[in-house]
Amino acid sequence: LEVIASVEPRIADATRKELADQRGSLKLIASENYASPAVLLTMGTWFSDKYAEGTVGHRFYAGCQNVDTVETLAAEHARELFGAEYAYAQPHSGIDANLVAFWSILAHRVEGPWLEKAEKKNVNELTDADWESLRKELGNQRLLGMSLDAGGHLTHGFRPNISGKMFHQQQYGTDPETGLLDYDVVRAKAKEFKPLILVAGYSAYPRRVNFAKMREIADEVGATLMVDMAHFAGLVAGKVFTGDEDPVPHAHVVTTTTHKSLRGPRGGMVLATEEYAPSVDRGCPMVLGGPLSHVMAAKAVALAEARQPAFRTYAQQVADNAQSLAEGFKSRGAKLVTDGTDNHLVLLDVSSFGLTGRQAESALLDAGVVTNRNSVPSDPNGAWYTSGVRLGTPALTTRGFGHDEFDNVAELIVHVLQNTQPGTTKAGAPSKASYVLADGVADKVKDSSAEM
Ligand code: PLP
Repeated sequence: LEVIASVEPRIADATRKELADQRGSLKLIASENYASPAVLLTMGTWFSDKYAEGTVGHRFYAGCQNVDTVETLAAEHARELFGAEYAYAQPHSGIDANLVAFWSILAHRVEGPWLEKAEKKNVNELTDADWESLRKELGNQRLLGMSLDAGGHLTHGFRPNISGKMFHQQQYGTDPETGLLDYDVVRAKAKEFKPLILVAGYSAYPRRVNFAKMREIADEVGATLMVDMAHFAGLVAGKVFTGDEDPVPHAHVVTTTTHKSLRGPRGGMVLATEEYAPSVDRGCPMVLGGPLSHVMAAKAVALAEARQPAFRTYAQQVADNAQSLAEGFKSRGAKLVTDGTDNHLVLLDVSSFGLTGRQAESALLDAGVVTNRNSVPSDPNGAWYTSGVRLGTPALTTRGFGHDEFDNVAELIVHVLQNTQPGTTKAGAPSKASYVLADGVADKVKDSSAEM
C-alpha cells in the first residue's frame, strides 16, 4: 500500500478502508467471499502486462509461452475438479461466460449446419445475400430460462438484457404456492416453445435443482441444456451437490463465476462436452477481449485449493450454515421464500416486518450487516424496492462461522428488522426507501457482531 500511496494516496486510503469494512462487518451477500492470500497475490503479478488473444498454442501474439502454462493449468484443474470433458478459463466474468456459451451454442447448432448445407467452410466465403440469410437464422433462435423474480439471472432471457434481445425468449417461474420449481411446468413450456437453449441455474433460488430432469426436458424438445452454476459452483466442487444435483454430467454446457462460493478471483469459466469444445474455444477473440492472464493464474490457484480435502469441509459447512440461518429465522417467526433452503442462500421475505427490501437492506447496513435486497416471486414492489433480502453463507463460513454464530446472525437481523419502521417522503407520503431504525440498535448489533 505504501507503493500505491506514493502514486495515488486516495486509492491506498480507499483500499485500507475497504479492508476495514470487509473485516468489520457481517458479509452476507450470497455472491461474495474471501479469497485466500495465495489467490489475491497471484492477481497482482506481471501476467497483468501480457496480451494473449487466442487460445493455448494458437495465439495472435508472440511470447505467450507462460500464459499457455497458466491457462493449461487452470483448465486442467477445472476438468479434474468438476469431472468435465473440457474447460475454458478465459471469461472475464460470469456474464462473459454466458455470452461465450450462447455464441458457442449458436455456432455449433445453427451456423455450423447452415454452412455445411451451403457447402461453405466459413462465413468469409458467403455472398452478401447468404450472409444476410445466415444472420436471420442466427437471430431467429429461442431461449427458455428462469425468470428474474423466481431467482434466475438477467442473462437467462430477461427482456431488457442482451439475452432477451438476441433470442426470442420465454421464462419459467416457480410454483405460486410453494415457491418451488415445478418440472412439469418447465416441460410443458419447453414443449410448446421448443427452445434451442434451455437455461437452468439461478442467483436467488434457495433450493437445489434436479439437472437430470432438466436434461430429460431438454432432450425431449431437442434443446441444448446450459446450466449457469455461478452461485453454487463451490457446492458442486465440494461434492455437496452430487448425482442429479451436479450439473456437469447432465448439461451440454456449464458456465460459472469463480469468485462466489468457489472462492477464487473475480472471473468466469465455461465447462463443456467435447462436442461444444471447439466453438467455446473460439470465445476469444470472437466474444471476449484478450484474457486476463493474471486472473487465469489466480483461477488455477483457487481451483487447486478447491481440490484439497479442506474445501469439501468448507462446502458442507456452507450448506449446513444456511440451514442454521434458515432455522434461526423460522424459530423467530420470520418468513422465508420456499420456507427454507437446501443450498447456500436464504431469501427472507421482509414484508412480514412491514418493510420493503430496500428499507431492510439499508437498516441492516447501518448495523454492519451487509446484504442485498432481492425480489421475491411475483414481487409487488418490483425489482428496485423489492420485498426480500437475500443472505448467503459462503463468506462468513470462510471466516469460520458455524451453527451458533449463524443462529446469532439470525437473531441480530430479526432484532434490526423488528426495530425498523418504514419512513415517509419529505412531503409526508409513505416511502418505499426511507426508514427509521430505533436509537441504539445499530451500535448494539455492531458490538455483538464484533465479538463473533
Ligand atoms: N450468472 C449468475 C447466476 C449470477 O448470479 C451472476 C452474478 O451475480 C452472473 C452470472 C454474472 O456474474 P458476473 O457479475 O461475474 O458477470
